[in-house]
Amino acid sequence: MGKVIMPPGKKMAVSLGVDFDAQSIWLGGFNRPSPSFMSRGEFGAEVGATRLLALFKKHGITTSWFTPAHTVDTFPAICQKVFDAGHEIGHHGYYHENPTLINRETEKRLMDLAFKTYKNRFGIRPVGYRSPYWDYSESTLDLVEEAGFLYDSSLMGRDLTPYRVNRWQVNWESGNVAGPVSKVLEIPVSWYIDDFPALAYVGGAQEGLADTDTVFRRWRDVFDYGYENVPNAVYPMAVHPQIIGQAHHIMAYERLIEHMKSREGVWFATCQQIAEAWQDDEEDIRRMSLPDVRGVAPKPADYHWPT
Ligand SMILES: [Zn+2]
Repeated sequence: MGKVIMPPGKKMAVSLGVDFDAQSIWLGGFNRPSPSFMSRGEFGAEVGATRLLALFKKHGITTSWFTPAHTVDTFPAICQKVFDAGHEIGHHGYYHENPTLINRETEKRLMDLAFKTYKNRFGIRPVGYRSPYWDYSESTLDLVEEAGFLYDSSLMGRDLTPYRVNRWQVNWESGNVAGPVSKVLEIPVSWYIDDFPALAYVGGAQEGLADTDTVFRRWRDVFDYGYENVPNAVYPMAVHPQIIGQAHHIMAYERLIEHMKSREGVWFATCQQIAEAWQDDEEDIRRMSLPDVRGVAPKPADYHWPT
């Protein structure tokens, strides 16, 4: 597998990525368009994002903000501040749509609709894609490749290193078959270093509300493990302004940043910078030309999944 070529004097990259979902996560992610959920998204835009921008400024850090176009169109002023502060804007869908619930045509239409917003508001075409639902449809990788993205950041085939995205042919009564890896670089995500599952309360869906110190220790341990054990490691974190921006959470988050800054050779980078520093090895290049198998075999008819 290839590796990230670190800048001189650096041994580990840290991407403090932000998923700036605001109100969109409660639409496409949870189908909860009620005033209470809209107010939680509003908090993310009006309070959380401002606190995060101030924190990053204080520590001299630029990050990648995966921002659904719905957030840009709803809260243009704060999104402009993110852009003006030099942060990377990544593609994160339009209304935080779940790609497994839409067909290829709709997925492409929404991807293009979001591109239009990024172009109109900022004059840019993002080079990085993060699937809103951290999941792919059968078409997502094709669409990501066709759109010309440099990298994707939605999957979990590694934890502390980028990799070339695998296509898998999925079978049941014979082994799965690896297809060609993509030219799109995967900068993985992880639910363990994401604030949402542990800390966000969503009635009927997830408990959240975990003890902040416990979560902080987990984030720090993942960092320490990568720092000590993984050559050319990348720590790919994701936080949500409406969650991490809560007073007690942002205090823990700052402790994490201070811990990282206390270690020699830590490179705070955007996902784009990390992707641009990637170098394939011969194995990556060989796997790009494997036969193009794909598809998911139907569930065996005699296997009875409880309903
Ligand atoms: Zn999101």
